[in-house]
Amino acid sequence: MPEGPLVRKFQLLTSPFVGQVVVKVGGSSRKINVNDLNALRLQDSQVSYFNFSASSRLVLHFESGGFLVFYNCRMYWCSSPRTDPASDILSVEFHRGRALDALRAPDPICYTLLDQRYFSGLGNIIKNEILYLAKINPLTQGSLLALSDLEHLLDCAIQFSSDWLHSKLRGKRLHPQIYQKEQCPLGHAVMKGTLGPSGGFKRLTWWCPQCQPEVLSGDGDPSPATE
Ligand SMILES: [Zn+2]
Repeated sequence: MPEGPLVRKFQLLTSPFVGQVVVKVGGSSRKINVNDLNALRLQDSQVSYFNFSASSRLVLHFESGGFLVFYNCRMYWCSSPRTDPASDILSVEFHRGRALDALRAPDPICYTLLDQRYFSGLGNIIKNEILYLAKINPLTQGSLLALSDLEHLLDCAIQFSSDWLHSKLRGKRLHPQIYQKEQCPLGHAVMKGTLGPSGGFKRLTWWCPQCQPEVLSGDGDPSPATE
C-alpha cells in the first residue's frame, strides 16, 4: 500500500480532468492498446491501485486542451476498484469510530495500523512516525491502551498525513523522526525489527524503547513479542 499523501498529490493533480473526454493519446504500452483510451471519459482518479514500474509513458490530451503525462507507468485494464472513503485517513468521510474499534483489538497496534480495511492510505512510514509521535510501542496491544491514547494516535495519523500531503504539494521532502533512523530526536538508540502478524505481511519497524515504552498487561507480562 502506498502512503496516502503520495498518492493523494497525484489525485489532486489529476482531478481537474475527471469528467473530461480524451481527445488524443500519445505514448505506448505493451500491455494495452493506448488508442483504446481515445474518446473515453476520465471517470475517476483512484491511485491506490497504481503500480509504477519502468515500462512505458502515456500522454492523455483532454477536450479542455489540457493534458496529463504519465511517466514510467504500468497500464492494465481492471474492473473499477474503489477505496472505501470511510477507511481513508485523508478523506473527510473517514470514520473515526470504526477506526477506534479496530485499534482496540488485542493485537499489536502496529499490525492494526497497516490493516487497509480500516486505514487505507496509512503505509509503513506513517505507521512508524505516528507511533513515535504518540509515544506508543509498536508491539503494545491496542486493548491495553486507554481510549484517550488511541484517540491521540488517530489524531497523529490524520495530522501527520495531512501535513505530509501539504509539504509534498509544496515540493518539500519529508523529514522522518524515527523511520530509518539510528537515534530518536532525543538522542536515544532506536530499535529496529521486522514486525507483522504470523502468516501475514511483515514490515521493518523502528521505535525508541525509551520514548515508546512497552505497556505491561494486567498479569505483568509485557506485550507479546513476535518471532
Ligand atoms: Zn527516544
